[in-house]
Amino acid sequence: MKIIFLGAPGAGKGTQAEIISDRLSIPQISTGNILREALKSGTENGLKAKTFIEAGQLVPDEIVIGILQDRIAQDDCAGGFILDGFPRTIAQAEALDSMGIAIDRVIDIEVADEAIERRLSGRRVCETCGSSYHLDHKKPAVEGVCDKCGGTLIQRKDDKPETICERLKVYHEQTEPLKAYYKEKGKLCEVDGSRAIEAITAEALAFLEG
Ligand code: AMP
Repeated sequence: MKIIFLGAPGAGKGTQAEIISDRLSIPQISTGNILREALKSGTENGLKAKTFIEAGQLVPDEIVIGILQDRIAQDDCAGGFILDGFPRTIAQAEALDSMGIAIDRVIDIEVADEAIERRLSGRRVCETCGSSYHLDHKKPAVEGVCDKCGGTLIQRKDDKPETICERLKVYHEQTEPLKAYYKEKGKLCEVDGSRAIEAITAEALAFLEG
């Protein structure tokens, strides 16, 4: 099963991808996490991506497509995978098509812009493994500590209010057209992302198993 999660930043793609990755035993691939990891370890791709990420803009297609291609070539992706944060442009979706990657299902998580700002400002991520939490809706067992790996929870630089606005603009201009792209192919399911995490998971799983 090859699955894509679409949605604005903060819509809950990562949260749902993580749960469904556990349920279906297929890896979650977050290009955002891979880029942040590259940035932390100071690789060439990380350095190239830095200014774009910090400004809330998309990293150029050729860099992200190359990263994705390398990741899905790894053994653990042979039985399928969940893409979280890729594709983000029509060119990236076309790149998947031309790599011969047949996507089975696309789940679009819909959340209104006004709610996104509140969500992103309360989001905290593990600086070690990238797992995502929220100060109100998804608290870790111990404040400031990742449930999964014990790493420290931090606020992403691009989750600060000044960058959120730019990221939403970029989403509407460059990523939202992907809904029509996958709808036309009969692969899209739109879910209401304003509900509880469990309700969204149940709807997503019903679509994936249907
Ligand atoms: P995310 O963690 O998915 O919100 O991604 C954080 C940032 O990484 C984005 O704001 C972009 O700057 C960059 N990024 C992640 N995935 C992509 C992608 N598929 N295409 C371009 N830029 C990306």
